[in-house]
Amino acid sequence: MSASDTDTILVTGANRGLGAAIAKRLAQDGFDLVLHCRRPGSDIDAVREAVEATGRRARLVHFDVTERERVRETLEADIAEHGCYFGVVCNAGITADNAFPALTDHDWDSVMRTNLDGFYNVLHPLAMPLVRRRRPGRIVTLSSLSGMIGNRGQVNYSAAKAGIIGASKALAVELAKRRITVNCVAPGWIDTDMTESLSAEELRRLIPMQRAGTPDDVAAAVSFLCSKDAAYITRQVIAVNGGMF
Ligand code: NDP
Repeated sequence: MSASDTDTILVTGANRGLGAAIAKRLAQDGFDLVLHCRRPGSDIDAVREAVEATGRRARLVHFDVTERERVRETLEADIAEHGCYFGVVCNAGITADNAFPALTDHDWDSVMRTNLDGFYNVLHPLAMPLVRRRRPGRIVTLSSLSGMIGNRGQVNYSAAKAGIIGASKALAVELAKRRITVNCVAPGWIDTDMTESLSAEELRRLIPMQRAGTPDDVAAAVSFLCSKDAAYITRQVIAVNGGMF
């Protein structure tokens, strides 16, 4: 897998967890990176150093994905200066889990605004520039096993992540003739700050492969979907879940 010199991919939420692993893997596979995080900090500086250590270029953008106008201004300014990206990985996301009767308005709103509005806020300013680039492109969104099957205690998150699947598939149809692919990656149980550790017994019971996934497991799938080898794969949901579903 390799990319041309001008292929740049924006990764949201690149400072930690899956986003950091995805950014590093994309750099290893030959892409330059635009690393997004909410605010400047040492975490994103470390990711930037890791990307640059591979010989690829990295620059940073900062915004809260829920702040629509600020996202639009930042991305429009970045592409006005540097040109539009080859790809976008919409990774930033949160959970706010609770049994449905105990779910608060804040739990519902924050999860929808970050995960589902975040899809719109990041991708809408980039859609026309991607099309006007008149070259192939890649969009990868992060859904979840929750969005495919629905999870107890995650009515809000399951709704948002199922919404991302629908939105990604519809966008894939709109962009297909432009050679811009849109696919979802739906991780299962991956060891990051977002997830609690499972006991050995729970791992055996819940996951046919009997281990939690690693951020690198997810990053490999995302990078494949961004590669030239995946040019004819679009409108798909790729589950990375050790056989959970
Ligand atoms: P983490 O909690 O480790 O990281 C989440 C990332 O999203 C952080 O970079 C965080 O920034 C960023 N983020 C959250 N809210 C905002 C916001 N409002 N504006 C800007 N950035 C924001 O999560 P994971 O790495 O585990 O998850 C990454 C993606 O994968 C998410 O979409 C998640 O739903 C999905 N996923 C994860 C699974 C797992 O098992 N880990 C399973 C299925 C899906 P900050 O550091 O500033 O908080």
